[in-house]
Amino acid sequence: MKPTIGFIGLGIMGRPMSRNLLKAGYPLVVFDIVPAAMEEIVQAGAVPGASCKDVAARAGVVITMLPDSPDVEAAYLGPEGVLAGAKAGTILVDMSTISPTVARKVAEAAARQGCPMLDAPVSGGDVGAQKGTLSIMVGGDAETFARVEPILAPLGRPVLCGESGAGQVVKACNQILVAVTLVGMSEALVLGAKAGVDPEKIVQVLSGGLARCGVLENRGQRILQRDFAPGFRIRLHYKDLNIIREAGRAYGVPLPASALAHELFGAAMAAGRGELDHSGVITVLEDLAQTEVKAH
Ligand code: NAD
Repeated sequence: MKPTIGFIGLGIMGRPMSRNLLKAGYPLVVFDIVPAAMEEIVQAGAVPGASCKDVAARAGVVITMLPDSPDVEAAYLGPEGVLAGAKAGTILVDMSTISPTVARKVAEAAARQGCPMLDAPVSGGDVGAQKGTLSIMVGGDAETFARVEPILAPLGRPVLCGESGAGQVVKACNQILVAVTLVGMSEALVLGAKAGVDPEKIVQVLSGGLARCGVLENRGQRILQRDFAPGFRIRLHYKDLNIIREAGRAYGVPLPASALAHELFGAAMAAGRGELDHSGVITVLEDLAQTEVKAH
């Protein structure tokens, strides 16, 4: 018999992910602090919970998909939180992107209560969440991973990266590469465009050489069309760069390129562009150069 899954955090990612679990036949109890966020999935057959504590008390496995580290701490460790309701043996899986040190702290608190916990952040965006093709980076022990792997299969492809916190470390590595590449691509396009070359040609040529990459492939054409609809929001990537720099400080690793990207994403936030797709960071470099990258 399939275990009841408690799903907490029904935003852009949590809604389609919980729907895929329901489709795969898992009984679902759900909760979000914004009641309206639960409506769609409850109509599809999930049972609404009253709090994180209530969901945890009714589930064999709890999955959370929340914005940031303080939200995860509140949802697990708060008086109405998951750990206040979970029975010993309940498996906890946090799929939010948060700080690796907070992930370890929450997992240690869960372990003291007899609840094994995995960190399992994802990459692949809202489209990956809808299609069930997320890349899932897992930290925790191998035995818990083996038990959870089939449950995560409807959501995407889970890979065990190491001990508790390792999933968040790999996600931070992912977000460094994407942010720094976005900034490099933006600089290249702004220089080329202001120097009078058709940016369409730049994208075409760079896509065939050593500079070719997923970021250019995915976002190059959208930038040329000035399409900055999210996708992944600047606000969330800024949050991830905060996590990255905090991890750099915690582990004694200087991250100069990430620091630069962080400031540029911060400038986009200050300009009121936090809701744009993260490729919209190019607008900050365009402002500095007093130019706009547009196809001729
Ligand atoms: P979102 O803001 O759309 O959804 C988060 C949901 O959590 C909201 O509905 C909010 O009301 C709820 N929530 C917040 N605190 C809560 C609490 N204490 N208890 C219950 N519910 C609570 O965010 P999202 O885009 O779904 O992203 C979720 C996580 O996934 C983030 O960490 C993000 O960085 C990561 N992520 C997002 C994407 C993407 O493309 N959106 C891709 C990969 C990873």
